[in-house]
Amino acid sequence: MNEKLFRAIESRRDDLVALTVDLIRFPTVNPPGEAYTPCAEYIAERLKKSGFQIELIRGVDTPGDTDRYPRTNVVARREGRSPGKTVHFNSHIDVVEAGEGWTVDPFEGVVKDGRVYGRGTCDMKGGLAASIIAAEAFIEVYPDFPGAIEISGTVDEESGGFGGVAYLASKGYFSKPRVDHVIIPEPLNKDRICLGHRGVWWAEIETLGSIAHGSMPFLGDSAIRHMGAVLNAFEEELFPALDQKQTEMPVVPEGARRSTMNINSIHGGQTEDFRPGLPSPNVADSCRTVIDRRFLLEESIDEVKGEVTSILDRLKRDRPKFDYNIRDLMEVQPTMTERDAPVVTAVADGIRAVFDKEPQYVISPGTYDQKHIARIGHLFDCIAYGPGILDLAHRPDEWVGIEDMIQSAKVMALSLDTLLQGAGRG
Ligand SMILES: [Zn+2]
Repeated sequence: MNEKLFRAIESRRDDLVALTVDLIRFPTVNPPGEAYTPCAEYIAERLKKSGFQIELIRGVDTPGDTDRYPRTNVVARREGRSPGKTVHFNSHIDVVEAGEGWTVDPFEGVVKDGRVYGRGTCDMKGGLAASIIAAEAFIEVYPDFPGAIEISGTVDEESGGFGGVAYLASKGYFSKPRVDHVIIPEPLNKDRICLGHRGVWWAEIETLGSIAHGSMPFLGDSAIRHMGAVLNAFEEELFPALDQKQTEMPVVPEGARRSTMNINSIHGGQTEDFRPGLPSPNVADSCRTVIDRRFLLEESIDEVKGEVTSILDRLKRDRPKFDYNIRDLMEVQPTMTERDAPVVTAVADGIRAVFDKEPQYVISPGTYDQKHIARIGHLFDCIAYGPGILDLAHRPDEWVGIEDMIQSAKVMALSLDTLLQGAGRG
């Protein structure tokens, strides 16, 4: 326990709420990437006052980057009095669209019943605010701390993170020796440590046919019927096989503790833009589907792809006139930080101290920016830990609990104490 740190955080309760409300009032909706620059500048101003050195870094020429919607990231660094390790808190500042069903203004930052409501409170401006308060409290209590603390506000996580963490990682911002430990305050619940995520393979499959008049389909060859054969094989063979592939990864929710595949979209034949007119009668010469396969540490990407291409190749052998193309759209390797990694044991000790219970270790069913830190930055001492409740993300009337933010800020501040100063060890 560290009563001094706890008191420093408690005394910042109003500041924490005000900071969260201010962040919510920047409608950083992605797409298109609204209000990134003013939000990043606001964080920069705030941290400059706390002695951080500030860099605003635009993800130039990344997807969606234009002068109208610049991909503006902020990276802030506070050097300690002597050399040591660097702990980095990374939060994305973009939010998804508000959507329907709100009972409060999603961008006002309504404070009610111990909660802050608004789009992005849970995912993840509440986590960003908690990390800022944790760092400021730590610096006040330990002005002579060794090492360095970094806080970043990055863009585009919701659309893949290419203009945000991926861009910064490619410039060395998420690699040793600059950074040693990374905590991403995504909403995974205040007493859980998220060690990583499953892998992703997106691909587009196209079946081919030949066009003919729809009244004489036997003169053509329907790409849609060929795609039907593909889907049929998926139903009969692939989906049951995937259900059998269980994992040792502690994925939440439990339904995702196996291999899964979603058929993301399917389009065959003519465009549907004929309305308000009528379509013309044609046999489809092309049908395309996008598959979204989530895979496990126990599987290799080659095995994952091979399951699909072996079905397609067999159809090519056995089914008359069947032909196909397949194109990779995205690949992300699964990642799981070791439970005895320094950042994991530090945050686990913090959770024990604040909540008087064992942390739960989880894996996210989908990916988040940790993928870029691992793949591009080659930094593996990274977790997600934050105050928001996972199930509230992206929903109407999204909120974050004020006490949850206070408690997770305490965990973060204790983690700084451990990782920078070796507190709580031996
Ligand atoms: Zn998020």
